[in-house]
Amino acid sequence: MHLLLVILFFLEAQFCVQSSDSNSPAGENLATNGLPFPWSKVRLPSYIVPVHYHLLIHPNLTTLRFNGSVKIEIDVKNNTNWVVLHSKNLKIFTATVLDEHEAHLSDKVLSVLEYPSHEQIAIFSPKILTSGEKYFLYLEFGAPLSDGFYGFYKSTYKTKAGETRVLASTHFEPTSARMALPCFDEPIFKANYTVRIRRGPSHIALSNMPLEQTVEIGNGLFEDQFEVSVRMSSYLLAFIVCDFRSVSGMTATGINITIYAVPEKWHQTHYALEAALRLLEFYEQYFNILYPLPKLDLIAIPDFQAGAMENWGLTTYRETSLLYDPDISSASDKLWVTMVIGHELAHQWFGNLVTMEWWNDIWLNEGFARYMEFVSLEAVYPELKVEDHFLDTCFGAIGRDSLNSSRPISSLAENPAQIEEMFDTVSYDKGACILHMLRNFLTNEGFQSGIIRYLHRFKYSNARNEDLWDSLIKHIDLKKMMYTWTLQKGIPLITVKRQGRKLYIGQELSPIYVRFIHFTVHNTSLSNPDVLTLDEEVDWVKLNSDMNGYYIVHYDEEGWNALTELLRINHTALSFKDRASLIHNAFQLVTAGRLSLNRALDLIGYLKSETHNVPLLQGLGYLQSFYKMIEKRNIADITHNLKTYILQYFRDVIDKQSWSDDGMVSDRRLREEVLSLACDFDYPPCLEKAKHLYNSWVESNGAISLPTDVSETVYMVGAQDDSGWAYLLEKYGVSMCETEKSKFLSALISITYFIHLLLQLGMDGTLIKTQNLPSLIYLVAKNPVGHFLAWDFVKKHWDELVEKFPLGSFGIRNIIVGTVTQFSSTEELREVENFFKSITEQVSELRVIQVATENVEKNIMWLSRNLETMRTWLQQRLN
Ligand SMILES: [Zn+2]
Repeated sequence: MHLLLVILFFLEAQFCVQSSDSNSPAGENLATNGLPFPWSKVRLPSYIVPVHYHLLIHPNLTTLRFNGSVKIEIDVKNNTNWVVLHSKNLKIFTATVLDEHEAHLSDKVLSVLEYPSHEQIAIFSPKILTSGEKYFLYLEFGAPLSDGFYGFYKSTYKTKAGETRVLASTHFEPTSARMALPCFDEPIFKANYTVRIRRGPSHIALSNMPLEQTVEIGNGLFEDQFEVSVRMSSYLLAFIVCDFRSVSGMTATGINITIYAVPEKWHQTHYALEAALRLLEFYEQYFNILYPLPKLDLIAIPDFQAGAMENWGLTTYRETSLLYDPDISSASDKLWVTMVIGHELAHQWFGNLVTMEWWNDIWLNEGFARYMEFVSLEAVYPELKVEDHFLDTCFGAIGRDSLNSSRPISSLAENPAQIEEMFDTVSYDKGACILHMLRNFLTNEGFQSGIIRYLHRFKYSNARNEDLWDSLIKHIDLKKMMYTWTLQKGIPLITVKRQGRKLYIGQELSPIYVRFIHFTVHNTSLSNPDVLTLDEEVDWVKLNSDMNGYYIVHYDEEGWNALTELLRINHTALSFKDRASLIHNAFQLVTAGRLSLNRALDLIGYLKSETHNVPLLQGLGYLQSFYKMIEKRNIADITHNLKTYILQYFRDVIDKQSWSDDGMVSDRRLREEVLSLACDFDYPPCLEKAKHLYNSWVESNGAISLPTDVSETVYMVGAQDDSGWAYLLEKYGVSMCETEKSKFLSALISITYFIHLLLQLGMDGTLIKTQNLPSLIYLVAKNPVGHFLAWDFVKKHWDELVEKFPLGSFGIRNIIVGTVTQFSSTEELREVENFFKSITEQVSELRVIQVATENVEKNIMWLSRNLETMRTWLQQRLN
């Protein structure tokens, strides 16, 4: 699955899981009918194993209900009378057990016990089910199509003519297959699936496998029968009934790839087809295993909570993660679409072919898929310069991992809310950074051949953390080394002291296996340090070359002085990654109270001559985030001085930018950021140019194309007067491009006066879709006067929000972190804590609350330590 996370300011925060055991002793649990429920654990018994599901499903897009039946071939491992499986919010009409000849074991209708708090049902068979015999479980069931984003849910879209159309789609990961059919909903229970779907004549049905045949069954209905699936976990099953249009192509190895979208967005599907074809071919070669299904569909669903989902053979996407309009989408949009496709396609092997045994190791899926985004794009789309973004991934992980509320990569997670919270920055981003470090250690070839070994060894089955380490390399106890990274939380801190030719290397916080420490002394790579004697006297030493290792380095005073001086006189002596990582390490150490702010600010003093977008945006990003925090505290003199300083200091960079789509992706990304900042800071030439472009765009009634990378900035400036704002809202209502709409929305939010109205529209869900509400709330909270409004809104509508975005989901976590992290005073912290105390019953198991409040504590600490330093430093620079 691909996360959609809000981007937070410099103290990045994410979410985590709290361990608790919700099992209770046997015999205490009562089913809904008052009888004892025969199973007391959250996880299913292992003595009944599903082998093959035969599923028939019929969604009615008018009544918005679905009915279904499932015949599950089961393998009985121990004699028993009970079959326990998952079911959530389903009405079970009938349940029977059949023998291997499909004869009923009993003439009676079997009673079904329900235990909703564990989302389980139990079926009693009067005749003992004997170990080693074959049986079938047959159930009929029904439910309304779900209203949210999980299970078998309803999605809608509007045509240009204003007609609302309905479709039905699934999203099961991690624990929602049980909302669409009774099943053994745990990743270890891999089975084959044969799916049949009933639909009306104007719709199509899709599932994991290709269509085998269609049968007309009367009453104007058709039944689509799909080929038998490969063995897979229940969370990967998918089916959709819709009226979409598609475009198809075939890979060199004969895999049919199809991109689906709502009919009027068909012209936005072509880039995704090209990307999917190229990336699938890449993975087949890289993993040395052919993609095992005959087809792969990629479909953009109008209502979708995550970024995308890797259902085997039928991957689902948010529209912004799949659709690309060459006239409207920006360079960043293109990169995003390509990365998300790279992610979901990597999952077809990592996750689908080899699956983690349990959700505690979800990083085996997500860390890998996140890392493969970079590996695949670097190989297939070198011009997109995806490597520019990898450091950001690790910086994000470090921000989260430096909090006490962090967790080890492999952590306990039992119940659905805890499992949901495992889909976080630790699993995705820290996972990817650890793998990157390992790849550098093993070499590219060593890493790739180890991965191939791992995939071959565990294909169509499940694996654990240690299975990966055991497969990667022989002769070295990799497990012992890697456990220091995956079983303990936190970011390691390496300290360096230099005395003459001797380097003393120390470790703090999370002790790690030191073979991963590489460093650069005049470009010579060394490893295995502790105390090291250099061959000759050197001017400077930089550890963690290219930030290939997941740790932060703190130098002694002389060390920092030497590196600051090096950047000043000859910054290209270090790679751009080294420059960006120095900036990051320095400001991270400032936050931790280990380095003075002066030093970090002096270190970035060289940025005037920096030409690479990564270090430049890294340094600028810190200054901007300080500005945003101080602005919210209404500290007028520093806000004013910092803005003046940034505009003066980076003036050359700003003035150099063109208002066009020319240049390489990295130039375009820099342009997008820099011009957005300049206009946000009211830099007159920027405002003038943006206003001019906005007026021409309005005069042409949207017919002329704005440069795509700067269009958001143009809208932002255009929205500043009432008529401009109203025009954008009107355009928002009719646009057929989601990336364009998200740019309109950012612009609309920048006007404080209308924030209430927009929040209401987001809550209502008609004009602004509910899927966009979390990012809408976050955008409001980022606004200098919007953070109180956003927080009040969250408090007031808490119950409704939790109904839309269940506890533990991305949506609710983004809302909590996005609003709370804007605060930076003790009064605000108390206010936030009091609110969460008042709903403690609901949120006590959510680690995200701790993450959010810990970030506020960090903000408070940062201001108390650094505000005066910042004030004086700015006064000196501006005088
Ligand atoms: Zn994923």
